[in-house]
Amino acid sequence: MSVEEQLGDVLSRIREGEAAAGRHDGSVSLVAVSKTFDAEAIRPAIAAGQRIFGENRVQEALGKWPELKAETAGIELHLIGPLQSNKAADAVALFDVIETIDREKIARAVAAEITRQAKPVRLYVQVNTGLEPQKAGIAPDDTIAFVNLCRETIGIPVEGLMCIPPADENPGPHFALLAKLAERCGLTKLSMGMSGDFETAVQFGATSVRVGSAIFGTR
Ligand SMILES: *Cc1c(COP(=O)(O)O)cnc(C)c1O
Repeated sequence: MSVEEQLGDVLSRIREGEAAAGRHDGSVSLVAVSKTFDAEAIRPAIAAGQRIFGENRVQEALGKWPELKAETAGIELHLIGPLQSNKAADAVALFDVIETIDREKIARAVAAEITRQAKPVRLYVQVNTGLEPQKAGIAPDDTIAFVNLCRETIGIPVEGLMCIPPADENPGPHFALLAKLAERCGLTKLSMGMSGDFETAVQFGATSVRVGSAIFGTR
C-alpha cells in the first residue's frame, strides 16, 4: 500500500475507534511520526492532507522540516523524543508542540526560550508509566507535583500528558493511568498510542495518537 492508502487506513481506524468508544468524530488527532524518513517520503502524506507530524530528534528534524514547512502552510510539528537543554533553542524555534518535558532543567530551558523567541510552543509532560529505567519521563507519583511546578513556579502552561508504555506489556493499564493522572492535574489532552496500540489508546481517551510505521512503513 502507498503512504496515502496507509494514512487513509489509519485515519479510518481512528474514526471507527472514536465511534466504538462513543466519542465525537474528530476528537482524536493523528500525529504522523516521520522519523528516519526523508522529505521525499513525507511529501505524499502532506499532499494527502496530513498536517500534524512527529519527530524524535531535533537535529534530524532540522534537516528536513524547515523546507517542508516553507512549502506548505499549516504544518504542526511535534517533538516526541528526549530533549537536551543545549537543543532547547533549536527545538523551540522549529517545533509547535514539545511532548517530552520530563525534568525541571528542561522545563526551565524551554521556558526561557519561549520567552526569548516569543514563540508560543505547546507543552506536554512525559510520564514513565512503566517506571522503566531506560525510558525518559516523570514517575507517575511525581507527576502532579511536577505539573504544578511547571505551571506555578516556572510559569509555563502544560497542555497534556504523554506516555510510551513498556513494549512487552498490555498498554491498557498504562493508558488508564495516564488518563487518571491527567484528570487529577486538570488536564484534558492525552498523547498516547502508536502503530501497534493506537486503537486501544483511543478507547482509553487518547486525544492524539502518534503513528509512524503503519503510515510510512518499517524503519
Ligand atoms: C517512533 C515513535 C512513535 C511511532 O512508533 P510506530 O510504532 O512506528 O508507530 C510514537 N511515539 C514515539 C515517542 C516514538 O518515538
